[in-house]
Parts: sequence; C-alpha cells; structure tokens
Amino acid sequence: MPIPHENQTRTCPNCGEPVPPGAKQCPSCGQVLGTGPRSRWWWLKSLTPTEIFLLVIGSLMLSVFLVAV
Ligand SMILES: [Zn+2]
Repeated sequence: MPIPHENQTRTCPNCGEPVPPGAKQCPSCGQVLGTGPRSRWWWLKSLTPTEIFLLVIGSLMLSVFLVAV
C-alpha cells in the first residue's frame, strides 16, 4: 500500500483509512480530525514560489533599510 504524500487525500491518524478533504470526522471510525499544525501555515502553502520569493526579498529589503537608517 503506497503512502500518500502531499496531496488532497488525507489519512485518518486512528485507522489509516483515507479521509475526504475537508472532512471533520473519519468516515470509517468516527475519529474527530483536528486541523492540526498545518492550519497555521495553510496560507504559506497557497502561495506561489514567486510570491514566497517576493516575500523573502521584501522582508530582506526592509531589514536592510532599517539597518541602513
Ligand atoms: Zn479512522
């Protein structure tokens, strides 16, 4: 059985059955699924590499500016 990587399908931490995206509860065993630590960085994953690059450059420029002044 292949282990799913970063895709839409999640697996239940209790029984290992696939859980449909957005499900609050496991359809197989009824395990309540928390959003977990990934919810904190959901916005980061929704960013494109270009946006992340601009974000990094922007914060870098800001810190350089603050040091220079
Ligand atoms: Zn389950």
